[in-house]
Amino acid sequence: MRRYPALLISLILALSAQASEPTHSTPIKQASAKDEASVPEKTERKSSSSKEKEARDKEAKEALAADEIAKRIADRLAVIRKEKDDASARSNPNPRIIVRRPSYTPVSKRADTSKAKPEAGANGAAEAALMHANIHWSYQGEGGPQNWGKIDPANAKCDTGNRQSPIDIRDGIHVDLDPIVFDYSPSRFSVVDNGHTIQVNVGAGNYISILGHNYELVQFHFHKPSEERVNGKSFEMVVHLVHKDADGKLAVIAVLIQRGKAHNIIQQVWNNLPLEKNDPVQPLTPMDISQLLPTKKDYYTYMGSLTTPPCSEGVLWMVMKQPIEISPEQLAIFSRLYPMNARPVQKSSGRLIKESN
Ligand SMILES: [Zn+2]
Repeated sequence: MRRYPALLISLILALSAQASEPTHSTPIKQASAKDEASVPEKTERKSSSSKEKEARDKEAKEALAADEIAKRIADRLAVIRKEKDDASARSNPNPRIIVRRPSYTPVSKRADTSKAKPEAGANGAAEAALMHANIHWSYQGEGGPQNWGKIDPANAKCDTGNRQSPIDIRDGIHVDLDPIVFDYSPSRFSVVDNGHTIQVNVGAGNYISILGHNYELVQFHFHKPSEERVNGKSFEMVVHLVHKDADGKLAVIAVLIQRGKAHNIIQQVWNNLPLEKNDPVQPLTPMDISQLLPTKKDYYTYMGSLTTPPCSEGVLWMVMKQPIEISPEQLAIFSRLYPMNARPVQKSSGRLIKESN
């Protein structure tokens, strides 16, 4: 950029040396030495002065010609300098130059604000797209828990519900809770990898009874880490035993799992892990599901929801206080399949939590 004005200046100087009258060279030299900001103004002045000289010295044609060329060069020089000035004002962070263009800053800010509105609209469109994209729910990425309510209208409760599970269990009311009566017996079972967890579907005939109300065990499945927390503490894993009453109402028993000794029943499940997803393995040997329960049957209870879409509410939760144990090797096996399949804790929203004394 700097070379062109320099070339022009040397050209101007050469032309002025050729000019017969030294007075003609004066404005030209001034033009070349001008302050950048005042170039256009002085060029105009020089223009008017050259017109006067034209009127006075009509016969000095050579000088006039030189003057005319010089004027054109000076004009061109002014244009080049103005371009250079504008370019440096755009790129130069020097605040003295920025001061010359104060109106540009708010304009660009306004442009940003107006841009933000279409972006918000685009987000809305993105949500709508998410809703129709057939994205399957998962525990991370686009189908993750933060989007469960958006990927399918049927999952609205995941977003809008105020009785959601899991929760951080704390500040429970200590009472003499009615004991859960377990009526589990050795049963046939099948193991399925449903893409979200390892689930064990159990044969008919396993019941629990709470206050005389019967629920039948349908299936149990695992989460890693435990979805529920107790006073902020999470556990290595949890097993959810899902029961249904005659009206279809759900009651889930949660058994927390901590690292320790190997567990026979969990080993029985792991022994029958399917090779393919959604392709159940149905062993011939029955399972004694009662062995999955801790020795002590104290529990916490609260009203919540399914912890997976559609996050339906009205689920009676009973979380056993005493955890069971699993060996590190058994933990590692599940971890290879599902390193993380737990929904984050949800707001308790002032729900009543009761716990056994
Ligand atoms: Zn579960």
